[in-house]
Amino acid sequence: MLPVEKFETIRTPFYYYDSCLLRKTIEIIKEDVAKYTNFKVHYAVKANANPKILKIISDSGLGADCVSGGEIEASIKAGFNSENIVYAGVGKSDWEIKLGLDSDIFCFNVESEAELEVINGLASEKNKTARIAFRVNPNVEAHTHANITTGLAENKFGIALQDIDAVIERAKKMSNVKLIGLHFHIGSQILLMDDFKALCKRINELLDKLEKNGTTFENINVGGGLGIDYDNPEASPIPDFKSYFKTYAENLQLRKGQKLHFELGRSVVGQCGSLITRLLYVKQGTSKQFAIVDAGMSDLIRPALYHAHHKIENITSTEPYEKYDVVGPICESSDVFAKGTMLNRCRRGDILAIRSAGAYGEIMASQYNCRQLPKGYITEDL
Ligand SMILES: *Cc1c(COP(=O)(O)O)cnc(C)c1O
Repeated sequence: MLPVEKFETIRTPFYYYDSCLLRKTIEIIKEDVAKYTNFKVHYAVKANANPKILKIISDSGLGADCVSGGEIEASIKAGFNSENIVYAGVGKSDWEIKLGLDSDIFCFNVESEAELEVINGLASEKNKTARIAFRVNPNVEAHTHANITTGLAENKFGIALQDIDAVIERAKKMSNVKLIGLHFHIGSQILLMDDFKALCKRINELLDKLEKNGTTFENINVGGGLGIDYDNPEASPIPDFKSYFKTYAENLQLRKGQKLHFELGRSVVGQCGSLITRLLYVKQGTSKQFAIVDAGMSDLIRPALYHAHHKIENITSTEPYEKYDVVGPICESSDVFAKGTMLNRCRRGDILAIRSAGAYGEIMASQYNCRQLPKGYITEDL
């Protein structure tokens, strides 16, 4: 339940995070993963790097999965141990690699041979050994939005299957990198366990093949990607982590002593966040009516960027339902949160909640149109 009366005095738009739900979600993850002694969960910081959210997650003992130097800095500041930090990204710049080396992070997930050379060189300058895993592009399709699949051969991410032997041989000859694992990530907002099963199958085949050449790995990292229920945030506030971990436990043939790492983002923070916005005007169009709100695509870009669907509620009205297009104030036709959605009758000043906005919401906000960045509040702040 959203604390509506407390919202009245806060300047809109803003993000509200139900910290109770976040803590409960993390507890369930820890409970479900505890059955498997060799599983380790990292939080994908890019989903939401609000310092208060990061603090709650780091206090819970999860590791951090970073995709930039800024995220490494934010993670360390929030209290994550550097030995629990992994770092992926196709375009790591020199200062970011140096930061990772100086911080002694657990592992660089390396995405190309060119990057391997640079990491080895920079580590050598510092007389250090970088722990690395190769990010493999498994050419597995995830049944999700085209812009958020990452594991197909045509995507920019990872090293192609046919090139993996050569880079492994190259790494073995280097003196300042230590190959400790393989990394995969096939996409985001994945709800079909069969997609993760397909990844397991591909990894099994690859491990069999590489073992024949004498290469073994201490760590396998399968990335993240578990989706959330955007249609029913109230009915399914916590994703089905049990099935998710079970799918990997049953389908991935881990070798003795091998650790399995996960990098969950959306599924950890998605449902605890809402974008709270005030209704400015109801405008009658020729064939529809628009609910014009004070939040825009600068605050939450997912609908404009991915045609993502977020449930919207008028949390200050109990009047009969009417149909609205919910739109923001930004000078772009794509600044639309929902088309033809049913809301309790809207009047100026009503407060609307755009639900399931905890992941890839606040962190992707911009100042387009010289707007202020939205603030984020957790339950304890109100
Ligand atoms: C984005 C990303 C994740 C997290 O994805 P979710 O869908 O939010 O769980 C994990 N690993 C890597 C490498 C990523 O780029």
